[in-house]
Amino acid sequence: MKCPFCGDMRTRVIDTTRNARGVRRRRECKACRKRFSTVERAILTTPLVVKRDGQREEFSREKLLAGLRTACTRRPISAGDLERLVDRVESHIRQMGKTEIPSRVVGDLTIQELKELDPVSYIRYAIVYLGLEDLEAVRSEIDRLLGERE
Ligand SMILES: [Zn+2]
Repeated sequence: MKCPFCGDMRTRVIDTTRNARGVRRRRECKACRKRFSTVERAILTTPLVVKRDGQREEFSREKLLAGLRTACTRRPISAGDLERLVDRVESHIRQMGKTEIPSRVVGDLTIQELKELDPVSYIRYAIVYLGLEDLEAVRSEIDRLLGERE
């Protein structure tokens, strides 16, 4: 660890404390004797989304929000509700700790959140964004999600 005062690389740890936000280390520079602290914490990164055709893309909040806004057209749902929904989906996929996840996982999380928010928007989203082509497929999708929740 480079000393922020003199730039010397010879620093020693004199104390280590842990709290919910990370590990804090009190250090002393062996060259100038000045003391400073460092904080070490894990950074959660958002995994890449693997599409059905195998292409990878960055998780896009904007894209997800745009789809949700369409599904929620003329429904009593605020922009804040949708932002919070996307926040929950994003933090959920980060907490999986993976580098890549199938787009289906994002779709499933989104749809389950949406279902709790508004059933009409949920069905619209299922039809449009999961690419369901007929009513039978829509029904089996809804049955599948209902089954998972039981
Ligand atoms: Zn120093």
